[in-house]
Amino acid sequence: MIQQASLTYGHATHIGLRRAENQDAHGKFPQAHLDLTGPGGQLFVVADGMGGHQGGREASRMAVQLLADVFFSDASDNVPGRLQRAFAAANRQIYQRGTCEPELFGMGTTCTALALRGDQGWIGHVGDSRAYRIHRTGIEQLTHDHTRVAEMVRRHLLTRDEAARHPHRHLLSRALGVRPTVEVDLFALPPLQPGDHFLLCSDGLSRVTDQELHALLLAYPPQAACDRLVQTANERGGQDNITVQVIAYHPHPVPG
Ligand code: MN
Repeated sequence: MIQQASLTYGHATHIGLRRAENQDAHGKFPQAHLDLTGPGGQLFVVADGMGGHQGGREASRMAVQLLADVFFSDASDNVPGRLQRAFAAANRQIYQRGTCEPELFGMGTTCTALALRGDQGWIGHVGDSRAYRIHRTGIEQLTHDHTRVAEMVRRHLLTRDEAARHPHRHLLSRALGVRPTVEVDLFALPPLQPGDHFLLCSDGLSRVTDQELHALLLAYPPQAACDRLVQTANERGGQDNITVQVIAYHPHPVPG
């Protein structure tokens, strides 16, 4: 019996109700297909830019494109190595433009990427966009938020409730493109299981609870789930740009 896997994908991005522009960016690569069997694998990226008016939008857009360009320009079999080099190159190029071009000064971005190949997955992550794994029995946040407030929670200096109301909860402790080098959280996931769903999102989704994410992702196909998530975030104030990607993994047993 051959396991031929397939993916279902949905995505949505929205400016929200309070911001003047959408500084989030996202992408799925290669854009032409969803295929886990190719040697290059499949890459999903969400980025949330920061900095001046022009800088924030430029940094997130650059991060998504550079990550994909470098990731797929490398023919090596080593997916985490390709991911690591892609993050390093994106960081370097965003930093260089942010230091050379006055209107882009100080720009930076979060960047959360999911690479899938066969039944294997890897996460690369900087900032406070998030990756979750959702399955029938639960939901787990795969990434740590790189914010000062989240670090204080991890060190038991703040409770989760205090952190959720903290006025500086969105201040990043790590971002792509603000220093010459960056430390990237990079790790392999356990082998994918039938029915696994992955959610990548920007922090505009922060008022939707884990329980709600779990219920929505299992109740709707990926595109409908993304549309509902954006709608829910906007119903709760739409304080920020909202970007979501949902990837569902279904291995189909094929006789042979
Ligand atoms: Mn945001």
